[in-house]
Amino acid sequence: MTTYNSIQKRLTGRPTSDGAGVKLTRLIGGAPLQDLDPFLLLDHFGSHESSDYIAGFPEHPHRGFETVTYMLKGKMRHKDSAGNEGVISDGDIQWMTAGSGIIHSEMPEQSEGEMSGFQLWVNLPKSHKMTAPNYQEFKAAEIPVEQRDNGVQIKVIAGQTVQGTTGVINNDYVNPNYWDVKMPTGNTLTDHLPVDHNAFIYVYNGMIEIDGEHLKAGELAVLTPAETLLVNSLEEAHFLVISGQPLNEPVARYGPFVMNTMDEINQALQDFRDNKLV
Ligand code: FE
Repeated sequence: MTTYNSIQKRLTGRPTSDGAGVKLTRLIGGAPLQDLDPFLLLDHFGSHESSDYIAGFPEHPHRGFETVTYMLKGKMRHKDSAGNEGVISDGDIQWMTAGSGIIHSEMPEQSEGEMSGFQLWVNLPKSHKMTAPNYQEFKAAEIPVEQRDNGVQIKVIAGQTVQGTTGVINNDYVNPNYWDVKMPTGNTLTDHLPVDHNAFIYVYNGMIEIDGEHLKAGELAVLTPAETLLVNSLEEAHFLVISGQPLNEPVARYGPFVMNTMDEINQALQDFRDNKLV
């Protein structure tokens, strides 16, 4: 085992649109990186132009995995077929286990100003793809932020830092880490990610250095496993650190359904047509 995580693969996202025409950058789930087990998709959305986001994501189904929405700026209203409804805004997290199925909409609750954030898809193991739908939703103020003496801030949404700060999300399926890290210029972050996890860093502001390589805003780095995560900030930097245990199971994927076999995908489509997704 090497001492420090290094960059195994780096990529920038592809501009695309989803929902009813929301402009976004797809980092995982497209040509540069189809998936990084257990992560199926990572989108970064962000614009000051309402025309880029106003159409939102009208009613659509999901089955077989979890959708994680982390808002940086703006307000999004979600509503589902089971009667759940709420608004997530600046700094809030919504970790939705779609499980056996849910039909929901995610629509902007604003007509101007900035809207930005991330959507991550986390796969469910075969044994729990048909689990009952569930939400874990937390306001920014409820999410712990580790404030280090050197000025580094780690907002721990899921998982645990070496200093013991523990996130608010429960997930025994892949035991994910989901940290939002903010570093002043010329600083150092030392931490640890489990060596049996697949892990990546996505920089959304500034520039950092990992094992001698620069990583700038808009770039995602898949990390090699190692004993110590060491990141230097070359500019004031803001980035996500995400890791999870791979499931090592077959992935059959069609639009908003992610199962293990094509038969299960066809069943999901049939259940959707028959109105059997909750
Ligand atoms: Fe959705």
